[in-house]
Amino acid sequence: MILVTGLAGYIGSHTAVALLNSGKSIVGFDNFYNSSPDAVNAVKKLTGKDFPFYVADLTDVESMRPVFEENKISAVIHFAGLKAVGESVAKPLMYYQNNVSGTVNLLQLMMEYNVKRIAFSSTATVYGEPKVVPITEDFPNSATNPYARTKLFIEGILKDVCKTDPEFSVVLLRYFNPIGAHESGLIGENPNGIPNNLMPRICQTAKGIMKSLTVFGDDYPTPDGTGIRDYIHVCDLAEGHIAALNKIQTSTGVQIYNLGTGVGYSVYDLIHTFSRVNEINVPYVVCPRRAGDVPILLSNPKKANDELGWIAKRDLEDMCRSSWNFVKDK
Ligand code: NAD
Ligand code: UDP
Repeated sequence: MILVTGLAGYIGSHTAVALLNSGKSIVGFDNFYNSSPDAVNAVKKLTGKDFPFYVADLTDVESMRPVFEENKISAVIHFAGLKAVGESVAKPLMYYQNNVSGTVNLLQLMMEYNVKRIAFSSTATVYGEPKVVPITEDFPNSATNPYARTKLFIEGILKDVCKTDPEFSVVLLRYFNPIGAHESGLIGENPNGIPNNLMPRICQTAKGIMKSLTVFGDDYPTPDGTGIRDYIHVCDLAEGHIAALNKIQTSTGVQIYNLGTGVGYSVYDLIHTFSRVNEINVPYVVCPRRAGDVPILLSNPKKANDELGWIAKRDLEDMCRSSWNFVKDK
C-alpha cells in the first residue's frame, strides 16, 4: 500500500487518481490546511475506488500513528507541506516547523514501522539562480527564501538517513512549474486566498475576480521580454510519480530527477494561448519585475526520461484548457 501525504492537495489528488488508475492501493492523509475533503471525495468519484483516508498532521506524530498502525505501507509519496514563497519569508518558523520538523516526524514513524521507501516533492527553486539553462540535476543548489531552504534541508535529511541504512530508498523529485487540471474538471488547483502563481492569476482575471493581470516585467533578455518557465501539466507530473515509485521499489540510496518538459514558455505565451483556446479575454498591465524572479528557468528532463521511462506528453493548450475547465464554474 502506498501512503500519499497531502493527498487532498493539488498534486496529491492528481497523483492519487493516477495511482488508483494504475491499480495501486493507497492510503492518504491531510490536515486540510490548503485543501478540503471535496478533493478526497472527487478522487473516489473519478476512479470509482475507495481507500482509507485520515485527517492527520505532520507536526503531530500521534495523529499520524493510526495511518501506519492500521495499514501495511510499503512506500510513501510525500506531498504534504506549505508552499507559498512570500508567506515563508513572513513566517519562516512556521515553514521550518511544518515542512522540516513535520518531515522528521514522518521519517521517525517510517523507521518505527520499517517503511524504507520515499518519494519527496522537491522543487526547481533549489537551483537558485542558475547561470545557464537547461538545468541538469547536478547543478549547484542554493536557496533564496525559507520555503526553498525547507526543501534543501529535507533533501539533506533524506540523504543522511540513506547513509545510515543501505536498504533505504529515496527519490527526490524537483518539479518545475505545474499547471493544468484533470480533464474531468473535478480536481485542480484551488488555492486558499489570493494566488501568487501565474496560471491561477490568469484564471482569476478571466473570471473577473482580478481586474487585470500584472505582468512582472517585459524587459527580460527573452524573445518577448517576459519571463520564461518550464510549465508542466499536473497529470504528466502525476504520471512521473508512478514512474518514480517503480524506481524506489527497485533501487536503494538517493536518486534525483527533474520533472519538467524541457520546453519554455513566456508569460505572454501563457496569456495568449489561454485567451485563444478558451476564447476569453485576459486583460493585463505590465509592471516592474517581481523581486527574486529569474529570467529563464528550464529543465533538462533527460535523466527522468531515460531512467524512469517517463516523458511529459501534454502541451500548453491542454494546460490552459484544463485549468480554465476546472475553475470556470466555481
Ligand atoms: P497543496 O498546498 O495543494 O498541497 C499540499 C497539501 O499538504 C495540502 O492539501 C495541505 O493541506 C497539506 N498539508 C500542509 N501541511 C500539512 C501538515 N502539517 N500535515 C498534513 N497535511 C499538510 O500543494 P501542491 O501544489 O499540491 O504541492 C505538493 C508538494 O509539492 C508540496 O510539498 C510543494 O512544496 C511541492 N511543490 C509544489 C509546486 C507547485 O508549483 N505546486 C512546485 C514544486 C514543489
Ligand atoms: N508572473 C507574472 N504575473 C503574475 C505571476 C507571475 O508575470 O501575476 C510571472 C513571473 O514573473 C514568472 C512567471 O510568471 O516569470 C511564473 O511565475 P510563478 O509565480 O507562476 O512561478 P515561479 O516560477 O515564480 O515559481
